[in-house]
Amino acid sequence: MITLNGKVAIVTGAARGLGKGIAEKLASLGAYVVVSDVNKEGAQDTVTDIKQNGGRAEAFLCNVANVDEARELIHSTVRKHGHLDILINNAGINRDAMLHKMTQDQWSEVIAVNLNGVFNTMQPASVIMREQEYGRIVNISSASWLGNIGQANYAAAKAGVVGITKTAARELAKKNITVNAICPGFIDTDMTRGVPEKVWEMMISKIPMGRAGKPEDVANCIAFLVSDHASYITGEVINVGGGMVL
Ligand code: NAD
Repeated sequence: MITLNGKVAIVTGAARGLGKGIAEKLASLGAYVVVSDVNKEGAQDTVTDIKQNGGRAEAFLCNVANVDEARELIHSTVRKHGHLDILINNAGINRDAMLHKMTQDQWSEVIAVNLNGVFNTMQPASVIMREQEYGRIVNISSASWLGNIGQANYAAAKAGVVGITKTAARELAKKNITVNAICPGFIDTDMTRGVPEKVWEMMISKIPMGRAGKPEDVANCIAFLVSDHASYITGEVINVGGGMVL
């Protein structure tokens, strides 16, 4: 049985979708969760839902693409709670376009949030976790890191997430800090609900298990990775996709 009693966790992009599911899961296992997002109202709604289920959480407005805001997210959490045990880098956006039509803004926005955002929280968190000699970091990459039509920006950012994950895993292992990445396949969230019906059906047809994933499918894997059961697992990139990538 997994328990996260006494742990303090930050989840970025937790106003909805996967981040909300992850925040709710960690709180249900006893963690105090800092529910962070650019959408303050959505983050507050997640906190309300967590509290209604007996969990403990607070909302924190933070654009992870902004270095100062990301730093403040980490530092104010530690000032308030005395420690930071778990960091889940989930915030992400997509700005899909074929490479020959992709604008500089589409490229830069996705890199700023999906890749720089991960560095912006991990860098100050690594300083804290090294001092504590304890930490669990999980970064949300994507099955798209292997390349996906219309997603040169997104795939490049998510491949970068794999790179920083494996490097940090090597650097931080001796300090009892694990760093892993999850590659969700096709999960039913607002992000994927934005695709045309034809694309939705085509995506489902590529999944051996025959269905889109649910945020809980990803959250369950994260609950394991941040628990004591996974204390000897680091630098891994785990697909949670119903067999979409085999
Ligand atoms: P979503 O769009 O439903 O939710 C993303 C959340 O991130 C939103 O609450 C949004 O406000 C927040 N956010 C966006 N920009 C932010 C920023 N700059 N700073 C802080 N918060 C920000 O998306 P989702 O489907 O829940 O995806 C969550 C993560 O999982 C993303 O990193 C995404 O790339 C990844 N992912 C999703 C799928 C999928 O099938 N849904 C597949 C692979 C990877």
